[in-house]
Amino acid sequence: MMTKQKFGKGAHKCRRCGRHGPVYQCHGLSLCRRCFREIAPKMGFKKYS
Ligand SMILES: [Zn+2]
Repeated sequence: MMTKQKFGKGAHKCRRCGRHGPVYQCHGLSLCRRCFREIAPKMGFKKYS
C-alpha cells in the first residue's frame, strides 16, 4: 500500500507539461515557471514579463 508522497512546500506537478517541481498556483492551475511564462500573456497576466 503506497503512502502519499511527501512533497515539500511548493513542490507540485505542472498541469501543462507534467513536470514536477516548483509551480505557480494561479486561478486553480498548477504551472511551472516555464509554462506559466508561456501562457501568462495569453491569459492576460502582466506579471513576470
Ligand atoms: Zn510546465
